[in-house]
Order: sequence, then C-alpha cells, then structure tokens
Amino acid sequence: MKQYHETCCVPQCTASSKYNGLLSFHGFPSDPDLRRQWLANIRRDKLKLTQHTKVCSLHFTPDQLLQPKAAGGRRVVSRGAVPVLFSWSHRSVQPPRAGLRSRMEKNHLFDLKWLLFCLSLEELKQMTS
Ligand SMILES: [Zn+2]
Repeated sequence: MKQYHETCCVPQCTASSKYNGLLSFHGFPSDPDLRRQWLANIRRDKLKLTQHTKVCSLHFTPDQLLQPKAAGGRRVVSRGAVPVLFSWSHRSVQPPRAGLRSRMEKNHLFDLKWLLFCLSLEELKQMTS
C-alpha cells in the first residue's frame, strides 16, 4: 500500500499528518445531505471530493469525536457530526444579536466618559497638590 500524508482541505488550516500525529483526518460522509452540510461549513462547496479529501479533527468538537476502542485504532467522527470549528467561526457560528450589541456599546461609551471624568479629577488633584 502506498503511503501518503493526509492533509486537511479546510481553508486556512495547515494541519498535516506529516507533522502532527495527534490529529486524525476524516473523510466526507457518504450521505449526500450531510456531505453538502460539511462542504457548506468548510466554505468550499465547489470542492471536488476524492477519497483523500479529509477534514482534520481540529474542526470537530470533542463530543463529536469517538476515541478508538483499541490501542492503535482510528479515531472516528460520530454519526451525523458536522465540522463546526474554524478560524472564522467566532464570527459565523454565533452572530451577535443587534439589540444586545447596541446596548453594550452604549454602556461602553458611558464607561469611557466616566473614566475620562475620573482621570480629569485625578489630574486636578495633582495640579492642586
Ligand atoms: Zn483542519
């Protein structure tokens, strides 16, 4: 059997089995809907899949990965799991709610004014002492 190094097909992910033996690489699911979901999540819906097209274990949450039952076994993704962890996912997984955000920004502005006020008091004290 020809030995090849597995790499991850996720954009901005440089994981390779050549350098990191702790990672596991997972082929795409055979279910067409699930496969579409994987491609949509990794943002490569035009990707041409081969049997060597893999997604590394960095993109799955720990509960989506099933540890090998025997030593030397392969780690596998649980049935129906979809990769969710990406370098961009802090923006796309949980979009901030508009209402909450503007309220937070107002509070932040208030804090800033308060801080400036305190600072100027401090300066006044220094000038008068
Ligand atoms: Zn990866």
